[in-house]
Amino acid sequence: MILYRQHFHKFPEGHLKEYKTQAKIREILLSIGCQNEWINDCAGTGLVVNLRGQGEPDEDKQRIIALRADIDGLKMQENNDLEYKSQTEYAHMCGHDGHISMLLAAASIFIQNLNKISQNMMIRLLFQPAEEGPGGALPMINDGCLEGVDEIFGLHNRPIYLPGLIRVKSGAVMASSTIVEIKVRGVSGHGSQPHMIQDAISASAAILCQLHAIKSRLIESKHNVVLSITQFTGGFADSVFPDSCYLQGTIRTFDSQILKDLEDKIIKVAQTTAISMGCTAEVKFVERYPPLINHPDQAKFIENLTANAFGAEFVGEQGLPVSGAEDFSFYLHHKPGCFFFLLTYDFNFPNRALHQSNFDFNDNLLATGAYIWVKIIEEKFNCKLLTE
Ligand SMILES: [Zn+2]
Ligand SMILES: [Zn+2]
Repeated sequence: MILYRQHFHKFPEGHLKEYKTQAKIREILLSIGCQNEWINDCAGTGLVVNLRGQGEPDEDKQRIIALRADIDGLKMQENNDLEYKSQTEYAHMCGHDGHISMLLAAASIFIQNLNKISQNMMIRLLFQPAEEGPGGALPMINDGCLEGVDEIFGLHNRPIYLPGLIRVKSGAVMASSTIVEIKVRGVSGHGSQPHMIQDAISASAAILCQLHAIKSRLIESKHNVVLSITQFTGGFADSVFPDSCYLQGTIRTFDSQILKDLEDKIIKVAQTTAISMGCTAEVKFVERYPPLINHPDQAKFIENLTANAFGAEFVGEQGLPVSGAEDFSFYLHHKPGCFFFLLTYDFNFPNRALHQSNFDFNDNLLATGAYIWVKIIEEKFNCKLLTE
């Protein structure tokens, strides 16, 4: 598992161009006994692997459980001194290399034990590209990856120091992610004559300050929202007022209705502030991912399963929800399921955080993640795949 993980770490890809990653996953699957006809391409660079049980039928209805691993890296430079340091313009700084390896390890247990699983039952492995953007879950869904699926599960590593091993909860666990763009138009002119023009730069600065007041003045305090303007561009010379100015940022919420409400307020604040200064504001939203909302039954299932496996004191809600976003949220719009977190803090490397250039997946937790995948299937399909 560690060697596979380090291979993926060394050759990361992303943005729906995960061709070599896809080929390597296929190669490993074939080497562990997976039949070629069980493996299907999906969304270009993703894979859907159907592992049907080969045991006696034990009930009338067919059941499919989907397990998902994201396979892409981030477009950034790695700043580690490792033998397996990234050799591409991407880097596995979110630990998806670990996610692939954990699901492959579980796959090898499933494939060796298909005779112990009823032929009514199927495990569907989803190896999904482009989680970091532009998003691979929707294209996978459009390609049919959820057809016939009863429940879906996904996990993410979390390398921060918290007691225990598993974080899971019902309801919102990760935020929505929406891009906000504001174009402020004024009238350009000479820097020495501000009374003759309409100043898009001042209007944009005023809009920025008013936007920050939305959270404290216009949204009820119990709602968790983040509005960050992270780009502010305009102007090109010391003596020229520009025609326009551009603001861009991100919105994070845990509730689709609050998101809608916040968007309406951003439009109102931007437009009225711009008009009061003789300018106009055009506001645009690009929804990336909706909030990730776990279904209660599946969240409870993961909580009980991991508490039984590791001890109740290792499982909890502390630290949830998180303001990051995940396109696993799209799967949960269609099917019941749960997304949970495996705590992977490494005392030897206390400063490693996700998306930081010095991140590296903690290999000590690979087996634990694979074990959870196997336990989910044992429990759901009422079979015994591991010898204790
Ligand atoms: Zn990430
Ligand atoms: Zn990630």
